[in-house]
Amino acid sequence: GEVSSQPANMPKNTLLDGLLAPGFDEGSCLSRYQSSSYRKASSRRPSSYLLSRLRSYEDLHKRCGPHTKSYNSTVEQLKSGHGASSTECKYVVWIAFSGLGNRILTLSSAFLYALLTNRVLLVDPGKDMADLFCEPFPEKSWLLPIDFPLKDQLNTFDQETPHSFGNMLKNNLLDTSKESLPSYLYLHLAHDYDDHDKLFFCDQDQTFLSRVPLLIMKTDNYFVPSLFLIPSFEHELSTLFPQKETVFHHLGRYLFHPSNHVWGLITRYYQAYLSKADERIGIQIRVFEEGTPQHVMDQISACTLKEKLLPEVDLERSIVASSGKQNLKAVLMTSLTSGYSENLRNMYWEHPTVTGEVVGVFQPSHEEFQQTEKHLHNRKAWAEMYLLSLTDVLVTSAWSTFGYVAQGLGGLKPWILYKPENQTAPDPACRQVMSMEPCFHAPPFYDCKAKTGVDTGALVPHVRHCEDMSWGLKLV
Ligand code: GDP
Repeated sequence: GEVSSQPANMPKNTLLDGLLAPGFDEGSCLSRYQSSSYRKASSRRPSSYLLSRLRSYEDLHKRCGPHTKSYNSTVEQLKSGHGASSTECKYVVWIAFSGLGNRILTLSSAFLYALLTNRVLLVDPGKDMADLFCEPFPEKSWLLPIDFPLKDQLNTFDQETPHSFGNMLKNNLLDTSKESLPSYLYLHLAHDYDDHDKLFFCDQDQTFLSRVPLLIMKTDNYFVPSLFLIPSFEHELSTLFPQKETVFHHLGRYLFHPSNHVWGLITRYYQAYLSKADERIGIQIRVFEEGTPQHVMDQISACTLKEKLLPEVDLERSIVASSGKQNLKAVLMTSLTSGYSENLRNMYWEHPTVTGEVVGVFQPSHEEFQQTEKHLHNRKAWAEMYLLSLTDVLVTSAWSTFGYVAQGLGGLKPWILYKPENQTAPDPACRQVMSMEPCFHAPPFYDCKAKTGVDTGALVPHVRHCEDMSWGLKLV
């Protein structure tokens, strides 16, 4: 049928300053062509070098993707179980792991790693990657074929896996100086990785890894900041991203296009509750304790009022006349529980605002707990991250990748609510972040040259510790 979800006066920047390649079938992925009519044009332009590298990546993917000659011979080599010889194309396989926000960030990290090392990225679809996202590359799928030889083992890979890079180093099974190569290596980059796994972030180890035909990666961390500390990647990264805080902003908008199912959820909600407002305020609440604690409610009020993101209410008067046109503010609140938004909505219903502005509070879902295995649950989670990214002003919760995805896609610098300690609201309640980049929660603290510990957040001005996690690293 007719596509009715497209607002009038469609802006011209449909392909996001050249970030997106033309020539896709529009009907199969409406969000690819319509997102620019929901989102303000980004003030950050991708570098022309990034655009040319994306186009050459797309060519590589076409030439080496699933079921090409090169893919087939890599698979044969893997099946034969012998050591590897050099192959025309090299691969990195990303394993779906952890919550959806985490997955979006790690997939971006894996893609950047593929760009830097001229590898082809293939995605283990897990339960529902294909249901949530469109294909990002023309012609050839990014999904790992179901007949991939190690397919059944991918789920079982963990810190103990003998074939991991870290464990093979630890057990002296890799002679990095010799010609002989394993046909694949597993890179364990999840939060529980050890000192050997972390050697991934050292130049000499990257030199070795660059020869291995197939790398399989599992991570729940946005490890991009530490790639900027690897000397051999430094020059390429600063040419790709002259504005360092835009890495996820550009890569995220390049890679992640909501499937038509999810796009329906996004556009219907936007039109029903958000499009008519003069200003949209997103508040993302992620609480790592039970229920709807009062101290979190206090913290939300303290932050939004002190930073003047929302107007105060007048407890004395029953009606406040606004001067001139009455401003309508729409608050989009996301949370697993409904208590916070009910509270806020009641406050703005029961009392007028001191400014005479009108405030509507909307929450799309309250799923109560994380249910990563369910289709509709994940569709809603993705739709909500995306809706938050369409707001003008954003408030997020500490430690949450769900919030990082929203801020990065939206190109927003949110006010981040500090993590409460001992069930009390922190003071100050929040602060505005330094950059729109996500935080790397479990970075290495190792100086590869000196072979000692080092504060990796103090080496260069553009890699700093995060606002919400003192040991984390982020690009600024
Ligand atoms: P993080 O744990 O906050 O870093 O974010 P993740 O997205 O990786 O994992 C949290 C998961 O919990 C999400 O993917 C959702 O499945 C669910 N979840 C958490 N907060 C919300 C929310 O506000 N709305 C919805 N729909 N789901 C949420």
